[in-house]
Amino acid sequence: MGKPVVHLSDDDIAVLKESSLLVGRTLAEVARHIAPGVTTEALDRMAETFIRDNGGVPGFKGLYGCPSTLLISVNEEVVHGLPGKRVLKEGDVASVDCGVLMNGLYGDSAYTFMVGEVAPAVKQLLQVTLECLELGVAQAVSNNRTGDIGHAIQQHAEAHGYGVVRELVGHGVGRKLHEAPEVPNYGRRGHGSKLQQGMVLAIEPMINMGSKEVKQLGDGWTVVTRDGKPSAHFEHNVAVRPGKSEVLSTFSYIEDVLKERGMALEKRSAVRS
Ligand code: MG
Ligand code: MG
Repeated sequence: MGKPVVHLSDDDIAVLKESSLLVGRTLAEVARHIAPGVTTEALDRMAETFIRDNGGVPGFKGLYGCPSTLLISVNEEVVHGLPGKRVLKEGDVASVDCGVLMNGLYGDSAYTFMVGEVAPAVKQLLQVTLECLELGVAQAVSNNRTGDIGHAIQQHAEAHGYGVVRELVGHGVGRKLHEAPEVPNYGRRGHGSKLQQGMVLAIEPMINMGSKEVKQLGDGWTVVTRDGKPSAHFEHNVAVRPGKSEVLSTFSYIEDVLKERGMALEKRSAVRS
């Protein structure tokens, strides 16, 4: 389907990893400051300053007319929420998506945060979505296909009765934020684009607590669930390797901060190694 798949050298992948790691450190700053009473635009300003202070450029800002450094999607917002005057409140969940361009290569990663105490059912949605990401990442090995990634994600989400968003998908990442191939979060084993060494994928399950149906709001950006139930979103950048994929981004900076604050998601590993 159109665009050729880009293969990056190991040197390029090392540069891209630096961008991905700066995204992780930026999201850790978000983790440090997210709380009831904080506005989404305050988080956005902080993230932009942090990225520029660390030698990067916000990857989303100006791209497709995006006005912000972060995309912050609260509760029933799935993705592409624009930061603004909205004040976060106790019990919210906020998916924070961030891109960095540094030395010509993009990093693109997202994490869904709990704001204060969150309902157990919503917390489970976050945990399962994180597990979906882990299961998808494990499939990003040479000679697999994008359908193997999507299948692993879809199976796990649907086993919990959740809806897998169809309209938005993961993607290749490199000198452009969005490269071929598309990486859907649903699919059939053995179908889709073949994965090869040198491909770097942004794998990003968007999982709804209720039905898979979404719609876009009048702002032309925010995508929300049609049933108004919450949605979660986690994203990693992953280099396709033989045998075992290499995760270039990291949540470890975020998790360190969340642990300090007593706000971490309990890890239940979904992947048997
Ligand atoms: Mg992203
Ligand atoms: Mg992405």
